[in-house]
Amino acid sequence: MTERRLSPETLAAQALGHVDGATGALIPSIHPSTTYERDADTGYSRGRVYARADNPTFDTPADLLTRLEGGAETLLFSSGMAAATAVFLALAPGDHVLAPRVMYWALRGWLLDFATRWGIEVELVDTSDLEALAAAVRPGRTRLIWLETPANPTWEVADIAAVADIARAAGARLAVDSTVATPVLTRPLELGADLVMHSATKYLNGHTDVVAGTLTCAQRDDSWARIAAVQRQNGAILGPFEAWLLQRGMRTLYPRLRWQCASAAALAERLAAHPRVAEVLYPGLASHPGHAIARRQMQGGFGGMLSVRVAGGREAAIATAARVRLWTRATSLGGVESLIEHRASIEGPTSPVPDDLLRLSVGLEAAEDLWDDLATALG
Ligand code: PLP
Repeated sequence: MTERRLSPETLAAQALGHVDGATGALIPSIHPSTTYERDADTGYSRGRVYARADNPTFDTPADLLTRLEGGAETLLFSSGMAAATAVFLALAPGDHVLAPRVMYWALRGWLLDFATRWGIEVELVDTSDLEALAAAVRPGRTRLIWLETPANPTWEVADIAAVADIARAAGARLAVDSTVATPVLTRPLELGADLVMHSATKYLNGHTDVVAGTLTCAQRDDSWARIAAVQRQNGAILGPFEAWLLQRGMRTLYPRLRWQCASAAALAERLAAHPRVAEVLYPGLASHPGHAIARRQMQGGFGGMLSVRVAGGREAAIATAARVRLWTRATSLGGVESLIEHRASIEGPTSPVPDDLLRLSVGLEAAEDLWDDLATALG
């Protein structure tokens, strides 16, 4: 059987299946060295110079993600924010970019503050509205369209293939934050995106014990070289121990995600029928505005994230989160343990998030236990 035919589940479980040539070890080593021996003739025939540029511990998680995303190369960053901001820092002042109105709030904040002060012209649009998006593109000036799908915390779905056509026609690049979908459910590069980004802090690592980010490119072109230079020069790199933990976490990505999708779908259905729930936001529900695109674009599930709008408003939502015993009140998502969060109070007064919204990250506990706890907390 050639490796090319292996399914992504197999590639992930074995982390590409390399065995160390010198020791026979199945599990890759952690390399803490910050520097590499130089040849007598001043060269570096073994290829590595200094650990701000690279480290052998990065190879397994980076190569595995490149395979799972169907890309050309992956860079590992010190956080999801470091990965995302590197894409914008590789642009030039005066460049116009389009980003979603509904997106991870800290990146939206960074775009409207730092990126704007640095001279990037940031325009927020409804990226689920293709006509609005096409009208906002300025051919020759728009250099980048940024998508997040499904998008925090209402899980709006953007049509990656259709947006890729709009970007290509305008000479712009398309980058997709695919943190919530992961390569298990969506492969943005196959749909025409140029870059895919993950907060690997979430599902890729999956165990709530690593902060990391990734970028994978469709092609190693000039723009990718510039992003790599931003990372190298700013030093936004992952530590070797975190990179090692990441390859360990990624081995179980497929079974974790499938379990989380099944539990989230079951919870979404039951919550939608609960009298104390005003609305359930989950792309897997036929009532969700992005459901039709999600059915086309997401394979094998609709993700492990959902949000509920609690009848009775902000106070009722906060009181519900206060009553849970099994779910943990905490920010973040994508770990093995289920988290619940009143989102508006963490995003602050400028947040567009409804203040009756609770965001749920479904973990690996039994769905029945999660349901019992939520139903009791809702009252
Ligand atoms: N993108 C999404 C969708 C996120 O949820 C997050 C973090 O919550 C980020 C990016 C930022 O990632 P990090 O916290 O690893 O910097």
